[in-house]
Amino acid sequence: MKTDFLVIGSGISGLNFALNAAQKGKVIIVTKKKIIDAGTNYAQGGIAAVLSKTDNIANHVKDTMEAGAWHNNKKAVTFMVKNSSAAIKKLMTLGVNFEMENNQLKLTKEGGHHKRRIAYVGDYTGKEVETVLVKRVKENKNITVLENTFALNLLVKNKTCFGAQVIKKAKKTAKNIKIENIFAKKTILATGGIGQLFKHTTNPSISTGDGIALGINAGCKTKDMEFIQFHPTALDKKLSPLFLMSETLRGEGAILVNNKGEKFMKNRHLLKDLAPRDVVAREIYQQLKKGPVYLDIRHKSSEFLKKRFPQIHEKLKEISIDMSKDLIPVTPAAHYLCGGIVTDLHGKTGIKNLFAFGEVTCTGVHGANRLASNSLLEALVFSNQIIKNLGKSTSTIAKSVTGDIFSYNPYTHVKNIPGNAFGVRNLLPSARVAMKLKHEIKNLMWEYAGIIRNCKKIKKEAIPKMRKIEKKLDTIKTINQEIAEARNMAKVGLLILKAAAKRKKSLGCHFML
Ligand SMILES: Cc1cc2nc3c(=O)[nH]c(=O)nc-3n(C[C@H](O)[C@H](O)[C@H](O)COP(=O)(O)OP(=O)(O)OC[C@H]3O[C@@H](n4cnc5c(N)ncnc54)[C@H](O)[C@@H]3O)c2cc1C
Repeated sequence: MKTDFLVIGSGISGLNFALNAAQKGKVIIVTKKKIIDAGTNYAQGGIAAVLSKTDNIANHVKDTMEAGAWHNNKKAVTFMVKNSSAAIKKLMTLGVNFEMENNQLKLTKEGGHHKRRIAYVGDYTGKEVETVLVKRVKENKNITVLENTFALNLLVKNKTCFGAQVIKKAKKTAKNIKIENIFAKKTILATGGIGQLFKHTTNPSISTGDGIALGINAGCKTKDMEFIQFHPTALDKKLSPLFLMSETLRGEGAILVNNKGEKFMKNRHLLKDLAPRDVVAREIYQQLKKGPVYLDIRHKSSEFLKKRFPQIHEKLKEISIDMSKDLIPVTPAAHYLCGGIVTDLHGKTGIKNLFAFGEVTCTGVHGANRLASNSLLEALVFSNQIIKNLGKSTSTIAKSVTGDIFSYNPYTHVKNIPGNAFGVRNLLPSARVAMKLKHEIKNLMWEYAGIIRNCKKIKKEAIPKMRKIEKKLDTIKTINQEIAEARNMAKVGLLILKAAAKRKKSLGCHFML
């Protein structure tokens, strides 16, 4: 298969980029599950932007830098904020119905923001955005979407990318999976985050860090991998992923209390319950050692809560919690990777014809900690750029890469391999081993690279343990999605551990004992 643009991932960054690129040429989007299976679909709070007369670019830049512990790249932050209102307007043109009041956007507030600047749709902003973008993509004749297609490897030669090798799942009953090459003039990584590397996470099952592993294998650089944001308030119930109790709850007046009913954030930070996420997450983590921690929004009426937080209200009702009468148990959970593949303002990765957008990247906008609702904004603004020069035709590319393209390719020996990943019962024994090792990785990362870290222990215990897991995975001689994901998780996990061990002082969401 050949195309102009090959986009890997169908979240906000992949879909938005595809719509822009379709004005220039043919686009193929590959996505490892259904098109809507993306972190984007889970976003609740909203998208930050300079949208009111009482706000300005300097304010938003300052809040972003402050949350990021001034570790941010100011040029990238300013670029993002300057383009923020245009990005929101563009989304509205595509059909996203943000909440309005008197013909103006209704704005909410989250932790670390000194102004109301978050455009939102109830408590399901991500779902609304994803649904609209999917609709526009499906209408576009220049875009082909390949679901259940897993990017296994990038085709790279002489620091130039020519597309990707993908695993296509055949029909559910099929015993074989098919591996093939998709050649492209430009390849785009839009694979999202890494939350699934941790035992407790708000991220969906697709967030296994594949794009970062693909990028490293291709020769890309990574940065700030130690800065994992832990969301302070996931619902403390046994769910996978953990259901998020959006920060906008606190934006609308919810207070954190411990089991004695004490409002423990009161004396911890100037912004109290709306302090930056790392501060709140650590405080909850410490409080949890003494007993459960709750969100209290019982002072708001049932009618208000139902209207403002329809999704959360419904989810809590399912587990017999009435948020207008009951306290909501919460716990921190791995939520967002601030670092990633290093890119410039145009998504360039340093490998020719390979670009990256969204959570997989490190553009530098988040610094050591992301300001709430800046990630959808980053994904939008950066993927709004259209790559101007398409370069060589894909047939030339295919000719130039066939033959020796596989010289560097770890999967040279596999073409049509027995294996499938359709569910635990049908898994090959090797895939079962991979699943078990995935669990080991999650436990290891939560223990050593979680909210409070110990540099010596990471070096002496966690890194050798992760290396052992990597070795075990290397001994598996077949390949399927389960095994590839486990390998990616181990690779990215090792990267995070090494970065965390190197940074000896606490900064932003990297907190050292
Ligand atoms: C619960 C929750 C709430 C959030 N709330 C907010 C919020 O209110 N505001 C905000 O700004 N941010 C929020 N975020 C963060 C934000 O949603 C994400 O950072 C953003 O959606 C990431 O978009 P993306 O396009 O980079 O990746 P994603 O939306 O995660 O999409 C990644 C895509 O890549 C595909 N993929 C991955 N690996 C492969 C592979 N190997 N082969 C093929 N396809 C692959 C996936 O299937 C998926 O389609 C939230 C996140 C979560 C989890």
